[in-house]
Amino acid sequence: PGGGPATPGKRRLGVMGGTFDPIHHGHLVAASEVAAQFDLDEVVFVPTGQPWQKSHRQVSLAEDRYLMTVIATAENPQFSVSRIDIDRGGPTYTVDTLRDLRALNPDTDLFFITGADALGQILTWRDSKELFSLAHFIGVTRPGHHLSDPGLPEGGVSLVEVPALAISSTDCRARVAKGDPIWYMVPDGVVRYIAKRQLYRGE
Ligand code: ATP
Ligand code: MG
Repeated sequence: PGGGPATPGKRRLGVMGGTFDPIHHGHLVAASEVAAQFDLDEVVFVPTGQPWQKSHRQVSLAEDRYLMTVIATAENPQFSVSRIDIDRGGPTYTVDTLRDLRALNPDTDLFFITGADALGQILTWRDSKELFSLAHFIGVTRPGHHLSDPGLPEGGVSLVEVPALAISSTDCRARVAKGDPIWYMVPDGVVRYIAKRQLYRGE
């Protein structure tokens, strides 16, 4: 797999990694749009373990982020959630995620979906050269983010424009902290879960 054209007959699995603190409709629209454009059989959402890029901020408990991701994706038969990064423990490196998913899914082409903002930093990730042999990379653009890094390998990366959704987890958390509504920014079940667990109150 890696870059290049798809292999006919192989299962096509999208991989959406993220902190999902909380998961929001930007994530869901991006996954849905990429699944349609790349004819994916399934998209697996993979909540991170303790994310090393964000170690300056207190990230919500992995179980809360995992459950919100399950709640948000449960009714879509094309979406699933994997615990591999949470259960591995320690900081999450995308190369580990992709190696594990490759081992668990033989005869499958992997398509790693990531925001164009994160894709711009990809060459700073651990084992960045190996990454492109494990999966095809799909950068989704959202308002205010543009792909800048010219060093990305040709053919290994595609860009997809997602219908503009100016939603971020950071903004959702700030809104909850201020008492502003997040209805319709995240799925209803996630709004209720955040209230039940009193997440993001003191930020
Ligand atoms: P934070 O504000 O805490 O950074 P986030 O909204 O960026 O959170 P993440 O869990 O970091 O959410 O994102 C997981 C993946 O989804 C990343 O690749 C990110 O770039 C992408 N993404 C986040 N928000 C959107 C959006 N509105 N549209 C498309 N992709 C998004
Ligand atoms: Mg982010």
